[in-house]
Amino acid sequence: MRVGRAVSGVLAFVVLLGVVVGTVWEQQPHGYRGESVAQDVFSAERAFRVVREIAQRPHPVGTVEHDRVRDVLVGALRGLGLDTEIQDGVGRYPGSLRRDVVGMARVANIVARMPGTDSTGTVFLTAHYDSVASGPGANDDGVGVAAVLEAVRALRAGGSTLRNDVVVLLTDAEETGLLGAEAFVASGKDGRDNGVVVNHEARGAGGPVLLWRTTHPDGALVDAVEKVAPYPNTDSLTTTLAGAQTGSNTDFASFEPGGLRVLDWAYAGRSAYYHNIFDDPAHVDLATVQQMGDNSLALVKEFGGKDLRTKDDADRSFFQLPFGMLVVLPFWVIMALAAVTVLAVGWLSRHLRRAGETSLRKIFGSAATALVPAPLATGAVYGLWEVVKLIRPEYRPLFVDPYRPEFYYVSILVLSAAVLLAWYAIARRLFGATAAMAGLLCCLAVLGGILAIVAPATAHVLVVPTLGATVGVAATFAVPERWRLPVLTVFLIPAAVFLGSATWPALQTGITTAPFLVAPAVVLLGGLLLLTLTQAWPDRRGWAIPSTAFVVAVALAAAGLAVDRFDDQHPLTSQLVYALDADRNEALWLSRDSPDRWTRNFVGEGAPSRPFAQLWPTTTASGPATAAKLSPPTAEILSDTTESGQRTVHLRLRTTRAATSIALRYETAPTALRVAGRDLTPVPKTGFQFYAPAPDGIDVQLVAPAGPLSLQLVDYTWLPDSGIPSYRNPPGDIYFRQDSAGAVFVTIPGL
Ligand SMILES: [Zn+2]
Repeated sequence: MRVGRAVSGVLAFVVLLGVVVGTVWEQQPHGYRGESVAQDVFSAERAFRVVREIAQRPHPVGTVEHDRVRDVLVGALRGLGLDTEIQDGVGRYPGSLRRDVVGMARVANIVARMPGTDSTGTVFLTAHYDSVASGPGANDDGVGVAAVLEAVRALRAGGSTLRNDVVVLLTDAEETGLLGAEAFVASGKDGRDNGVVVNHEARGAGGPVLLWRTTHPDGALVDAVEKVAPYPNTDSLTTTLAGAQTGSNTDFASFEPGGLRVLDWAYAGRSAYYHNIFDDPAHVDLATVQQMGDNSLALVKEFGGKDLRTKDDADRSFFQLPFGMLVVLPFWVIMALAAVTVLAVGWLSRHLRRAGETSLRKIFGSAATALVPAPLATGAVYGLWEVVKLIRPEYRPLFVDPYRPEFYYVSILVLSAAVLLAWYAIARRLFGATAAMAGLLCCLAVLGGILAIVAPATAHVLVVPTLGATVGVAATFAVPERWRLPVLTVFLIPAAVFLGSATWPALQTGITTAPFLVAPAVVLLGGLLLLTLTQAWPDRRGWAIPSTAFVVAVALAAAGLAVDRFDDQHPLTSQLVYALDADRNEALWLSRDSPDRWTRNFVGEGAPSRPFAQLWPTTTASGPATAAKLSPPTAEILSDTTESGQRTVHLRLRTTRAATSIALRYETAPTALRVAGRDLTPVPKTGFQFYAPAPDGIDVQLVAPAGPLSLQLVDYTWLPDSGIPSYRNPPGDIYFRQDSAGAVFVTIPGL
């Protein structure tokens, strides 16, 4: 493989790096439309007025501010001329996802209708209007709510009536367990047959708006996105991986079991502002809002006019290209391309051997080692972040990323590249320049083939770039010498584009996933770009290149540590619970995290003893507290009967201090449990926590084997609002996480 000379090789490599950077830049949101733009288009600035209105203060379920936000939104929807109502109900954490303590709430969903002319189904525009207690929720999910309202406003201003019904559904109590959406689905009231949900979420404060999860089969949904969404930031690798994990959840998990088809859109850049006091209007990126709204307005028009009765029966393979292009392919096309790639690489290897450039033994040798740098890069990136956290332990309790993660991002990319370059230096020495690259192509072709069989939705990420590169190398045999490098470079553009969209947006979703997604992407896709350096790589002192890259990676991480510091505008996250045992009039401070410079005033290392350890099992730090005069929750025994070995108890639970939630906890689960009219099946392992209980309490019926019952009641308020005399507000550079609480617990007497 003789392609070009040293200088032109480096130039081609730089051009491809330019394509990588250009792809990343193009995918980020740029610009937005102001208030003065035509009424039938989406304006981020107009949407932002709604954000400012609703995200003034935290508004979690069960607070006065929550009810103010609810009323503002109902007024705004009625102002748009929509038939709007508040649907009251009781929601529970989706039964499909297991939790020891199941979240529940009295919820108030906002439902507004636009009847269609000849409806075949309903298009739901959804977002949640509650926030966490620890922040005003401007991005999460004020922007989603505002995007829905502005999209509907633009739709109505356009004057066209749609064929299908459109329903705006602003869900309640998402933050406490996807409860409003669950209550909506469980009510079974609205005709949800043939329903399509466009859900709006945020787990950060900027970056591209990603379609990160869909229901399956996804073919018809993705076809619509391809057809109309101007920013289809998605690919079937991402949606497959996101669908497989349940750690990070949205209302999607409540809608899906209801048989609705769902597109789950969310942005996750600048995630340090997630669930934080600075998730406020000042930290909203209007360009991101514009992306979200432009997509949703286009999608509601598309689904609004479609026959929603025709459902798709197949999943697709899809990936994005720059300039808003989404390529959607049936699985068989990817499988066929994977087969072609394997054949093409086989032909190429044979050709290189016949031309006397290398031997099959050397190619196989390189192929056998080509995967090794992937786990090594994973380990190196993982280790890098562990070292950074050792140097700066305040990073440990971070929800996702630090405030200024960019130097770390680049460091991760350069470190992964350093591992790749080290492999390349060794492979060249051992197998020669030609066999090193031919081996990499063989390895990727086989890996792509395996993926095409076992997980076809993910295979495009290897198959398309590898096929491009293989065809590019083959083409160099057929063109005159001076055309070889330009031709090869053109065929490596798919690898560069895929590398761009697989790295930076993935980094924006969080450093913790970087070892497993970004590092392998750099090693495998970046490896293809090394084809341009075949002639340019120095025969002597090749080691200097990976060594320099390692040094640069470390320097970048050091720069990250220097640039990113906690201060009043970039506060540190902290977690603290005050727990009062009303049975014994004893209190403790508790924390899930190691003591930091603020919480060490309250707690020291060491888990508490029972009964605290039983109610807060993840506590790692604790300390003594003065017992405050807080009145405990109560349980009124309405009835208590035992019949043929079964004891049935009917209770009414109340908070006597207007707490925002109340929990019933036990060590031995009853055989049946019914709370506020909802059966909890299967019965949760250790209890339930009910948010926004009605002032006259919540009704609980439980069935257990005859004999004594040991039940505990706990109620919770947001720690700063708990009225604990020994509580002090933290300094400005520390904020409390959403689960920081003042809690009172008591054993239900007389059972
Ligand atoms: Zn949210």
